[in-house]
Amino acid sequence: MGDVITIDGPAGSGKSTVAKILAKRLGYTYLDTGAMYRAVALLVKENRIDLEDRYSLKRICESIKIRFMQQGNEQKVFLGERDISEDIRTSEIDLLSSDISLIKEVREIMTALQRRIAENANLVAEGRDMGTVVFPDARIKFFLTATFETRAMRRYVERKDKGDNISIEKIKKELAKRDTQDQSRSLAPLKPAKDAIVIDTTDMDIEKVIDEMIFHIEKS
Ligand code: C5P
Repeated sequence: MGDVITIDGPAGSGKSTVAKILAKRLGYTYLDTGAMYRAVALLVKENRIDLEDRYSLKRICESIKIRFMQQGNEQKVFLGERDISEDIRTSEIDLLSSDISLIKEVREIMTALQRRIAENANLVAEGRDMGTVVFPDARIKFFLTATFETRAMRRYVERKDKGDNISIEKIKKELAKRDTQDQSRSLAPLKPAKDAIVIDTTDMDIEKVIDEMIFHIEKS
């Protein structure tokens, strides 16, 4: 297995941004596991799969052809030849990915896939259960947090920048639902691993977060 650095945390904690930068600095592969759950959600939506239909759900997960491709500073997500990077970042997929991530069969297949990827690469693996379930033996584990208000505002700005005309109230409602669901589920709930380094990013800019992480990585 390659060297693995895990970054977990709730939506809007800054983990995607720092994971990308950290991976680049270290020359590691950035593994966006949220995008994997989102890709499954997109297929579920487009194929109108009932979440109770575990057989079809398993088939989708087992046959998923997800690929990541670095384009400049962006990481594009592909399903086969199709670029799904934009399609998976909608409010509907935010919530549907959280719904499907509660399902045991989905988690088992995604976990196996993520571990397979780590067999041949050094990873900065980002998600909700990287340090607790998927890579419990990772060299170093981070858990990023920020206050609810800060996380909601970050999401709001992100959406506005993309031209999405969403209200802050709607963002807050969706974020609260996803937080509750991700934290209270029985399988792989969102929580820091016992040996995780917790960083509250509320009053920190990206560079400061990266510096703190590099400091811990160099020490480990
Ligand atoms: O990180 P992102 O917001 O893209 O993740 C989308 C959803 O996928 C999360 O709300 C969570 O429910 C699920 N997820 C998960 N385990 C992971 C990564 C994401 O359950 N490792």
